Amino acid sequence: MLKSYLDSHPDENGYFGKFGGAFLPPPLIEPFAQITKEYQKLKNDPEFIEELKYVRKHYQGRPTPISYAKNLTKHCGGAKIFLKREDLNHSGAHKLNHCMAEVMLAKKLGKTKVIAETGAGQHGVALATAAAYFGLECEIHMGEVDIIKEHPNVVRMKILGANVIPATHGLRTLKEAVDSAFQAYVPQADTALFCIGSVVGPHPFPLMVRDFQSIVGHEAKEQFMEMENSLPDYVVACMGGGSNAMGIFAGFIDDENVALTGVEPMGRGENLGDHAASLTYGEEGVMHGFNSIMLKDSDGEPAPVYSIGSGIDYPSVGPEQAYLKEIGRTSVGLCNDEEAVDAFYKLSQFEGIIPALETAHAIGYAMKLAKTLSPDKTILINLSGRGDKDIDFIVENYPIPNAKF
Ligand SMILES: *Cc1c(COP(=O)(O)O)cnc(C)c1O
Repeated sequence: MLKSYLDSHPDENGYFGKFGGAFLPPPLIEPFAQITKEYQKLKNDPEFIEELKYVRKHYQGRPTPISYAKNLTKHCGGAKIFLKREDLNHSGAHKLNHCMAEVMLAKKLGKTKVIAETGAGQHGVALATAAAYFGLECEIHMGEVDIIKEHPNVVRMKILGANVIPATHGLRTLKEAVDSAFQAYVPQADTALFCIGSVVGPHPFPLMVRDFQSIVGHEAKEQFMEMENSLPDYVVACMGGGSNAMGIFAGFIDDENVALTGVEPMGRGENLGDHAASLTYGEEGVMHGFNSIMLKDSDGEPAPVYSIGSGIDYPSVGPEQAYLKEIGRTSVGLCNDEEAVDAFYKLSQFEGIIPALETAHAIGYAMKLAKTLSPDKTILINLSGRGDKDIDFIVENYPIPNAKF
């Protein structure tokens, strides 16, 4: 029998086609090789698998349900829209799926501390949550601009016992937070584990984070079959680094009739610096230790990016996302700030679910798509997170529309 896609990708050096790899400074080569070796062992260790199953069920609250968005479907007047509810995963987003497993791995490696970057603060909160549960120290690097915009998540991380370190250079957002966290990690690699927040970074992180997130897709496939007696026609997810998208895609990747779409943020326009549509406008390059498609400035450096969703303003995407688009297995959808805000309010007022601004991009794109399709078609959206963190920012900048559209 042919090996499934997931079992045969990436190759043993962490490549998905030409994308991926591990471009590391010399002091990190050995620590990363050790992480890879340990992960390959743990992946098939029944004890590790059992423990992960236990925390998912009894702590995280998995499986999360799929909801049929009946009012939004009626409003759009086309395909039926379904939501995989990662907003109901403990701590309010899909990120805890990989954070619990990463901190478990850190413990198995004998580390006492975890270090990470965060954009909107969601990864920081999820990692601080997992660190508290497993009793490890936690150090989170965050851009100063995001610290102000995402204030509630900063407070949450501190309450959970994490040390939050501001990134004060450049645009002071996600990319700078990654730089800062990496720098801090190098001298601490023997006692700490760098816990990357998406399917990005050097091998083995794109592989590990995908594997840990794939629970979303595997659950969704079974649940959707039970509800509709078929597979969805379209699976849609927003894309920053690409982890929530990879998680839900993983369940359907061998089902060729299911179209998989990652939605990129078009921000406020097409000019470089006004969006973060890395796969749409980017070119091949190495950043943060891996080869992928990225947005570059005129010097070939990672370009400034912008999106209303702080967790998706990253100038690249995970190598597997670049590969899947290149081979034509996935496609890219677009959604700008304005469409995302409209989707944010529509999902809130039609369905009683306040989505994260990142997630609102997937909803905005799916609403456009649904209108072009007949009612016998189905769209499954990965509802990657809840929007409590965004409510102050939204109401200050975009007046609440009159209820009912
Ligand atoms: C972090 C985040 C994202 C973006 O990250 P991906 O790795 O692209 O999934 C999307 N939605 C929410 C709610 C997030 O917190």
